[in-house]
Amino acid sequence: MIKGQCLCGAIHYAYHAEIKQSILCFCQDCRLAQGALFGWNSPIDQQAFEITQGKAFLKAYFHTPNKARVFCIQCGSPIYSYRLDLPNVLRLRLGSITEGEIPPPNQTFYSQYQPDFIQIINCLNN
Ligand SMILES: [Zn+2]
Ligand SMILES: [Zn+2]
Repeated sequence: MIKGQCLCGAIHYAYHAEIKQSILCFCQDCRLAQGALFGWNSPIDQQAFEITQGKAFLKAYFHTPNKARVFCIQCGSPIYSYRLDLPNVLRLRLGSITEGEIPPPNQTFYSQYQPDFIQIINCLNN
């Protein structure tokens, strides 16, 4: 079982399945949305995901018409995103996980934007 939360603790969630993918995304949208070098995400099964506390603190921001980025209105932590055309899939922000196994990164997206000064990745390609 996976558990996670936002920074202020208003939102808590549980994921009743395993995280299988572990993706680093270097696109500019992820950088701006996370305020970080990359987004760290995994597609998960929406049916197995449960907000256990603080549903009222969730807010969805549509940067593009098809994709909502969902965050805590109190502390701003990104929690997940989803696409309207993929209703059963959430993309969980793996940095919000506090309990459970997260696989090491096994894919990078938009790696052409990966800065030269970071070398991630003995764990890819094995
Ligand atoms: Zn919060
Ligand atoms: Zn991205």
